[in-house]
Amino acid sequence: MRLTILGSASAKPTIQRFNAAQVLDVNGRPFLIDCGEGTQIRLKMADVHPMRIQHIFISHLHGDHMFGLVPFLSTLSLHNLLSPIHIYAHPDLEKLARPWLDYFCRDLTFPIHFHPVNPRACQVIYQDKSLTVTSLPLKHTVPTCGFLFSSEDPYYHLIPHCVEDYRIPIAAMNVLKSGADYVCADGRVIPFREVTTPPRPPKRYAYVSDTAYKPSLIESLQGVDLLYHEATYNTALEDKARQRGHSSARQAALIARDAKVKRLVLGHFSSRISTADQQQSLLDEAREVFPDTSLAHDLSVFEF
Ligand SMILES: [Zn+2]
Repeated sequence: MRLTILGSASAKPTIQRFNAAQVLDVNGRPFLIDCGEGTQIRLKMADVHPMRIQHIFISHLHGDHMFGLVPFLSTLSLHNLLSPIHIYAHPDLEKLARPWLDYFCRDLTFPIHFHPVNPRACQVIYQDKSLTVTSLPLKHTVPTCGFLFSSEDPYYHLIPHCVEDYRIPIAAMNVLKSGADYVCADGRVIPFREVTTPPRPPKRYAYVSDTAYKPSLIESLQGVDLLYHEATYNTALEDKARQRGHSSARQAALIARDAKVKRLVLGHFSSRISTADQQQSLLDEAREVFPDTSLAHDLSVFEF
């Protein structure tokens, strides 16, 4: 998996930090997570072509997490996209977006499927043969869900030069990839262990967008490879954080520590935490609790 941060600000964007958006690359497929204003520009800067995105996950209906959505869809139509776009979000998103789409994008070239997400339930909202996405109910001022992306590689991978060396017939390829030996018509056996490499290890990424400190998340986040957790405020502003449905960096680090995640990335910083010194002290507060913590910056990339 490879995570690219497109926007790491909270409500007010700055030149350095745009509103919330990320793109998660899972075995070469990009999944867009939140779509704040400016997402299209950041996608260009990150060299991700918008036409490659088929699935969009929106955590909640605050503008800083979705004001970029309709413009993004409009641009896809200008590219003459034909294949469907799938959007996973609170059911109200369709009610809000449809009138805009009907007005501004009358000749939309592709269908949009809105998949309503129940913000109170931890449930599978997307699944294909190698990826499962589960919703993570959060504690914010409006119904909000984080997302847990779990990738599982179901296949062994053929070693290119073995295809020639072992004269592997086309019919044998899927058998070998499934982890079974192949018996040729002449009785010759091709052992899958000699011609393949094992499936890639499973990976998990958790996106915890806006939320107050919520220890009940710890169970769902156990051992994830990368946790992105909002850290809008510093420790001194924890009362304000609780009132506004946000967390401090220290609280995010407590979640990471108690869930034994491998790595923590903090983002969604308040405009009160705008100088390099303020951001460094936010990071220091988190690292006291969970050392393997990084700050998100727009366009920073995390591979795992
Ligand atoms: Zn919010």
